[in-house]
Amino acid sequence: MSGQRVQPADDAHVAEAARVLRAGGLVAFPTETVYGLGADASNDDAVARIFAAKARPKFNPLIVHVLDIDAAAAHVRIDDRARTLASRFWPGPLSLVLPRREDSALSLLVSAGLDTVAIRAPRGDVAQALIAATDRPIAAPSANRSGEVSPTTAEHVADSLGDAVDIILDGGPCPVGVESTVLDLSGEVPVLLRPGGLAVEELETVVGPLRRAGEGEVARSPGMLARHYAPSRPLRLDARAVRADEALLAFGVEVPAGAAEALNLSPSGDTTEAAANLFAMLRTLDRPEFAAIAVMPIPEHGLGLAINDRLRRAAGARS
Ligand code: AMP
Ligand code: MG
Repeated sequence: MSGQRVQPADDAHVAEAARVLRAGGLVAFPTETVYGLGADASNDDAVARIFAAKARPKFNPLIVHVLDIDAAAAHVRIDDRARTLASRFWPGPLSLVLPRREDSALSLLVSAGLDTVAIRAPRGDVAQALIAATDRPIAAPSANRSGEVSPTTAEHVADSLGDAVDIILDGGPCPVGVESTVLDLSGEVPVLLRPGGLAVEELETVVGPLRRAGEGEVARSPGMLARHYAPSRPLRLDARAVRADEALLAFGVEVPAGAAEALNLSPSGDTTEAAANLFAMLRTLDRPEFAAIAVMPIPEHGLGLAINDRLRRAAGARS
């Protein structure tokens, strides 16, 4: 029964939840906005488990939760605007999309291959205690299955995710009750990607009048985002054989021989493991000495749907 996973958010259970996160598990926890489905943001496998648990058909980028601006600065480039906004509104319901630092330890899957990261410092004792005890950045989308409304109580989380989550910390109802406001600061002009728990008017007192992302622009991201990572080498999908001048991105146990170089997304044919490896392996194989990257067929189940969606976009982006 999924209810057994719900635990009071006292010190002992926060400490246990932190151990679960550090070991690559999933923890649902309250923030001031909604309950988040958290994983160690620096662990590819743990992040892939988030997408699997939510049954997300696509790799939407996830928001990374940290304690404060200094912790954020290890992963993203903070300019003056970001510094001003963070000192004014953090901790609080404002996520900032900022350029990812090359030396960041964050999983590439967290930002779905984008070279930006959405990051925020949540308010609320439980969230802060959990981040501090874990001592890692925590990736956390809303703790519900894809297509359902965001949960604002531990009971909602248990009803929606049940056994897909290792532990649910019950910190009572979320005071804000809607997701964070998402502001894109990766370009010259700040763009409001999602209205949320911090009023736009409050933001505008600091950054001036805001451009709203066009209708559907956010829903269609990351595919629509200009800065989305696409390999510079052509992608050849559904490859069942490989040429000597190609790199091979393999899947499963039966791998064609003869590639210049090969990496296997999941020798055991596990789509969650493949998702964890996808962006890092694509980057590793994206080298000028290869004529193309041949990608073996990925099954259309589990995270295979999201992987194939991403691969088709990356293949199409070049033409
Ligand atoms: P959720 O984690 O479910 O609250 O949703 C995260 C929201 O932030 C989605 O609307 C994403 O599209 C958006 N988001 C997260 N990371 C990025 C990013 N790097 N660039 C643009 N939007 C982002
Ligand atoms: Mg959501």
